[in-house]
Amino acid sequence: MLKSLIRLLLKIFPRPVLIKISLLINRVVALFYMGNKVECPVCENSFRKFLPYGYTKQTGRDNALCPRCLSLERHRLMYLYLKEKTEFFTKNLKVLHIAPEQCFYKRFRALENLDYTTGDLESPIADVHFDVQAIPFSDETFDVVICNHVLEHVDDDTKAMSEIYRILKPGGFAILQVPQDADAEKTYEDPTITDPTEREKHFLQKDHVRLYGLDYAERLSSVGFKVTADTYSNNFPEDKAIRFGLPMKEVFYFNKK
Ligand SMILES: [Zn+2]
Repeated sequence: MLKSLIRLLLKIFPRPVLIKISLLINRVVALFYMGNKVECPVCENSFRKFLPYGYTKQTGRDNALCPRCLSLERHRLMYLYLKEKTEFFTKNLKVLHIAPEQCFYKRFRALENLDYTTGDLESPIADVHFDVQAIPFSDETFDVVICNHVLEHVDDDTKAMSEIYRILKPGGFAILQVPQDADAEKTYEDPTITDPTEREKHFLQKDHVRLYGLDYAERLSSVGFKVTADTYSNNFPEDKAIRFGLPMKEVFYFNKK
């Protein structure tokens, strides 16, 4: 019931409106989710469980969305990864965050060790507006680039990856997570599929142009990245993964220049 209501809201309202609505109701919802079974590492609140989430029946699931900060499984995974495996929260770093996630950008901007810039095609919350296939920054400008769930929307994703590689300093890293079919060896793309309904059927969402397979790492390597592919279980014990509501199957790619 709640799952179909959320699906309906996601369909009806554009994202900026959704964000406003969700901020209003999420404090009320948090009351109903009071408890200590799960814990969000991003906002550091505990709950009875997370909220259900998903655009379609295919992607809908229970126990996904943090009632307080709206983090999803993949956000919590990235946050923990950055915290435990990198110096993101301690070292002085120049960071470009493309298509910044609602649950992250205020927190990251508040970190005093970061020189933090946000970018997006059009989002009003972004500092700089650009197309990721032509990034308006000089070579070797940033220590870190974060650009999650963007490349599956981009026609020439290899160009976008090489742009991100170009603006990274040597030794810098990029987090470029994408929706992925963990059972598919090869990325599925077909530029003749342009109808939104067909795209949703084939690529999970109306505005996706492909569905990545396990060869995603090869694409990243092809532009120069040294890619480390991890699953949650390589990094976190199962009880912690369940408590933090981490994505069990998601492969996390750490891409170094
Ligand atoms: Zn949270």
